[in-house]
Amino acid sequence: MQIKQARFVISNTTHLKCPSPDLPEYAFIGRSNVGKSSLINMLTGRKSLAKISGTPGKTQLINHFIINEKWYLVDLPGFGFAKISKSIRQKWENMTWNYLINRSNLITTFILVDSRLEPQKADLELITWFGEKNLSFVMLFTKIDKLSKRQLLINVENYKKRLSKQWEELPLSIITSAKTGTGKEDILAYIAETINTNF
Ligand code: GDP
Repeated sequence: MQIKQARFVISNTTHLKCPSPDLPEYAFIGRSNVGKSSLINMLTGRKSLAKISGTPGKTQLINHFIINEKWYLVDLPGFGFAKISKSIRQKWENMTWNYLINRSNLITTFILVDSRLEPQKADLELITWFGEKNLSFVMLFTKIDKLSKRQLLINVENYKKRLSKQWEELPLSIITSAKTGTGKEDILAYIAETINTNF
């Protein structure tokens, strides 16, 4: 698949106001600074498509983009700010959880994790939650250009070992770099393969 067109559609605070669910949809979620905006820009070949969600006020919203007029790409708000207040955290959780559970056209969510870090508690909790809710997801290891091949292998193995404590079959994962474009083809191929899934 090639992305020929990518256009911002709308930002929302609730899934109830999102575009009518008549096109397949893929969401991106991750802790702040994981490289989500950069990855979305890399995938779509647009330098600042996801910037709109990085501007103050837009960071805590569900952002819809339409791709090739055929499917929605959704940039979900970043989470895991160290000093976020309880009420903001709860707001994020309510908005995001409700979106993920209720969005009928959501095919898969890409969960971004920083390849340089040990498995983070918040990421593991999120992955567990997806499992509990039986929601489809693919893990994306980000910023792999910052690691040596050897270190990347060690980190990914470490992550998988951790997940294998909980998962009989390991979740699908793709290594990515917004800087070099690694992972772009794999992500787009995954979307092309799954886009005709009924919803
Ligand atoms: P977001 O908060 O998840 O949207 O993260 P951003 O996309 O804003 O990225 C956070 C920081 O990491 C920025 O300084 C980016 O330039 C940097 N970054 C993101 N992805 C990559 C990558 O693949 N490689 C490298 N070297 N840096 C990256």
